[in-house]
Amino acid sequence: MELVLQHATLVNGRTIDIVIANGIIVELAAAGQGKAETSIDCSGLYVSSGWIDLHVHAMAELAPYGDDIDEIGIKQGVTTIVDAGSCGADRIDALQERAAIAKTRVLSFLNISHIGLERVDELSRLAWLDEQRLAAALNRHKDFIIGLKARISRSVVKELGLEPLTIARKWSKRYGLPLMVHIGSGPPNITDVIGQLQRDDIVTHFLNGKANNLFTESGQPIEALLAAIARGVRLDVGHGTASFSFETAEKAKAAGIHPDTISTDIYRNNRMNGPVYSLADTMSKFLLLGYSLQQVVMMVTEHAAAILSRPELGSISIGGAADITLFELRQEAKRLVDSEGQERLAEQHIKVRGVVRDGTYNAC
Ligand SMILES: [Zn+2]
Repeated sequence: MELVLQHATLVNGRTIDIVIANGIIVELAAAGQGKAETSIDCSGLYVSSGWIDLHVHAMAELAPYGDDIDEIGIKQGVTTIVDAGSCGADRIDALQERAAIAKTRVLSFLNISHIGLERVDELSRLAWLDEQRLAAALNRHKDFIIGLKARISRSVVKELGLEPLTIARKWSKRYGLPLMVHIGSGPPNITDVIGQLQRDDIVTHFLNGKANNLFTESGQPIEALLAAIARGVRLDVGHGTASFSFETAEKAKAAGIHPDTISTDIYRNNRMNGPVYSLADTMSKFLLLGYSLQQVVMMVTEHAAAILSRPELGSISIGGAADITLFELRQEAKRLVDSEGQERLAEQHIKVRGVVRDGTYNAC
């Protein structure tokens, strides 16, 4: 089926028509010039390549960290979600089966613990770190698993301290996959955690406001963070229930340290009851912090696609998949809250209006 998005404004301010056929973008025409069987008037709306949320929890039956794929995907204007370690080797087959029938594109970071988030202390026993099971899972799901995930904070690793991270780093190198590391309360100490991360690894929750965070009281980045950035470690927001602080984000921005990617760490409870609610709301918090719309959109498109090693998912281009997000920059006040319960009044916010996934349009 053919579809044209008419008078769609890109974040660089240019207005164009986007013609889509068979799930592919076939033409970028001057505004008003694109022709197809079905047309959608996008006057007043922005479009970008489909948003990518690099940190979600998409295994519905896991509690507390679970949700339905399309609820946190296309219903929110997000065409690609990356499950961040809900599943280890034991359940990854089930996640992949569901992903295959969902409308949203799903990719996964495999939890290095084979039990994944069946428990929330999944890295507290060495018996749950089983290389044979991990290798077999990676072998079964080569295109689906894009990295490894290790949650390195006190309540997850308990007495094992840094040992799970040392193993994660070893496996990351051995299997050639980037490692996403969740940071939080210590021990282990944040300096020791960040010190082990290498080029292309990702630190998620980097703007958390907990005691063991990446910025000093006076707002300076710790030395280990600067060294990690210099090595090519990437910084991901992973907002979550407890991991995004406006104050920490302000310190980071003032120090010239910016997110590579904005992600939600969304699951049922923080979607329905806050403080996350959606990727759009999370992006709006960065507008409020003073980032431009272009910067914010880049963090959920181009930058995220680069981390996935799928640059084609991060731009609107002829011959590329027709995954597109349609949204509005609404000039209307909205209260936004962080994980510390701090509320800020935004004068504008991003509202999703529709999404094209694999060539099919869905209103949001
Ligand atoms: Zn998470």
